[in-house]
Amino acid sequence: MPTDPYTWLEESLATIHRADWYRSVQTIHGLPGATVVLSEQQVINFASNDYLGLAGDERLIAAAITAIKEFGTGSTGSRLLSGHRELHRELEEAIASTKQTEDSLVFSSGYLANLGTIAALVGKRDLILSDQYNHSSLKNGAILSGAAILEYPHCDIAELKTQLSQQRQNYRRCLILTDSVFSMDGDLCPLPELLDLADAFNCMLLVDEAHATGVLGKTGAGCVEHFGCTGRQLIQIGTLSKALGSLGGYVAGSSTLIDFLRNRAPSWIYTTGLSPADTAAALAAIKIVQQEPQRRVQLWRNIDYLKKLIQQHLPNLKLLPSESPILCFQLHSTTDALKAGKQLRDAGIFAPAIRPPTVPTSRIRISVMATHQTAHLEKLVAVLNSNIATTVS
Ligand SMILES: *Cc1c(COP(=O)(O)O)cnc(C)c1O
Repeated sequence: MPTDPYTWLEESLATIHRADWYRSVQTIHGLPGATVVLSEQQVINFASNDYLGLAGDERLIAAAITAIKEFGTGSTGSRLLSGHRELHRELEEAIASTKQTEDSLVFSSGYLANLGTIAALVGKRDLILSDQYNHSSLKNGAILSGAAILEYPHCDIAELKTQLSQQRQNYRRCLILTDSVFSMDGDLCPLPELLDLADAFNCMLLVDEAHATGVLGKTGAGCVEHFGCTGRQLIQIGTLSKALGSLGGYVAGSSTLIDFLRNRAPSWIYTTGLSPADTAAALAAIKIVQQEPQRRVQLWRNIDYLKKLIQQHLPNLKLLPSESPILCFQLHSTTDALKAGKQLRDAGIFAPAIRPPTVPTSRIRISVMATHQTAHLEKLVAVLNSNIATTVS
């Protein structure tokens, strides 16, 4: 018997290093934005989920400060005990109004919203069908629920239908899980087809709108609105921490669903309510999303312009299919991806390498923001051209 039960930690870290999978944090200084200071270097920021540039907006900051002065820094308890404030209700009503659902429920993060909702909806006698590329929070929510889990190939409706035909009758309830915008690829789930399959096989459907809220759809309500599926029965999850520039997560759906979750979702019941500052900032962000559609228009102008520049100047760059602000190009190996990320960084571009185990194949991931200037996008393309065109083609 070894004498130290912790020695395996070092060995395991060494394995992570050998595979080039090792990761560590990088310090950003000052306010978030289209450019940031990263370890003393000014860089153009293509690594942020702050798609509309709201995380540093003075109105969100003012709302958070006012809420702290009025309600304090902590909400002091779980929502069902002492942690519920009028602000929480206002935010939940604003989310439901944006999503055009009967009600919504705010969690302390999007991750917790997925864990708690999935675990509340299905159990041992039930089946989960999950897209292979789903976010970690959907995958771990599925495991936590104790249901049987089948993964289907990415966006493969035909294969999903086959699995449903073969397996659905063996289980009590069935829940289909999917990202709406896939977070590490940037493509969209085939939502209308998924809804039709869910109807045909008597399944619940949960879509994670984390990267779509504020970004897609005429009013910024997300992928559901983008596909004209507003009002159809489904469970929408999202986050307050991406385009909404705050922190927290939510579920939107029927009032029966929300009432049930308030009684059964452990990651909502047994955790402290969202802080007044985060709640107020998210509420301010939702108002801005509703009142300033020009931010979303500018975001899409930037996405289209960057795609056009890449097509013109970097025809060999293999962009993964994308219908969102997330643009990725694949590299041959983790070593190439790290090298490309480093070269970009040295040239003043912050666009991280995303490697296994987060994704199956290494890539550089670019997130476009509404607040990027034309010159930022042009610099990115110029740097790609002179530095890494040889690595990727
Ligand atoms: C970021 C993300 C989450 C987690 O949201 P947080 O609020 O950051 O916890 C969940 N699902 C998807 C698809 C995400 O991209």
